[in-house]
Amino acid sequence: MKRIVMLLFAFGFLGLGGAFAEDYRNGIQWEEPALVKPGKTAGAAPSDAIVLFDGKNLDAWEGGAWDVKDGVLTVNPKTGDIRSKEKFGSCQVHLEFMTPPAESKGQGRGNSGLFLMAHYEVQILDSYNNPTYYDGMCGSIYKQSPPYVNACKKPGEWQTYDVIFTRPVVRKEGDKVVEIIRPAYITAILNGIVVQNHFAIQGETYWHKAPEYLVHEDKESIRLQDHNNRMKFRNIWVRNIPDSNDIQREKVLPFIFDPKTMKESFEKEEPAVQKQSTPEAPAKQK
Ligand code: MG
Repeated sequence: MKRIVMLLFAFGFLGLGGAFAEDYRNGIQWEEPALVKPGKTAGAAPSDAIVLFDGKNLDAWEGGAWDVKDGVLTVNPKTGDIRSKEKFGSCQVHLEFMTPPAESKGQGRGNSGLFLMAHYEVQILDSYNNPTYYDGMCGSIYKQSPPYVNACKKPGEWQTYDVIFTRPVVRKEGDKVVEIIRPAYITAILNGIVVQNHFAIQGETYWHKAPEYLVHEDKESIRLQDHNNRMKFRNIWVRNIPDSNDIQREKVLPFIFDPKTMKESFEKEEPAVQKQSTPEAPAKQK
């Protein structure tokens, strides 16, 4: 018992010592992160979201003549895809969808799609007891990457997608992409389950040919696909996010902060490379 008390005392002392320990600071002058008020319930739009559909109307969209009734948006088959009027680059997207009663099979059952930048499709499909090619299942990046798992719910149940997208950076010459400086990346969470993690997009998600990057703007519409199925949607919102995680490290010097003295001490600079002393030429023998 005595021993335990002594150990606890020792740990306590160490903990206290830790509070006064010197503290590494990286020297970067960060901007203060903005205050964002989260939604009241899981999936509800946070305060900085751009709400694209809140159950009322299609004002934020153009394209197909889809139906809005009882707070729900339903695909009106053969009227075409819908595209957000506002354009986005790197972003976070939340949407909820429901697949209709199963009447056909494969790609013909409960098919739609969330196209980031109107070009890159995260597949929406009824993958509940509905075999199809794996890179065309719900949760796939169409024809590029199957979902890690099949996380699809039954027809008639609401499902959620949360997608984090980083836009591509390419070098263009006229109407051609001549260099992919950074591919687009997609992370997708279907019904709370990760199905894609930072997948590097290979280009357009064509169904009939190999992917390739096409020239487009740095911001493009979010597009939802009309694939002839009466899919339902609700609660669609987007947040703009930073374009990259690159840290500008120029002109910063890490330092050690001592809370006791409130002083900063910089790490010693690297010693300058010593000049190579050129050996003296051997005296010429006379
Ligand atoms: Mg689709």
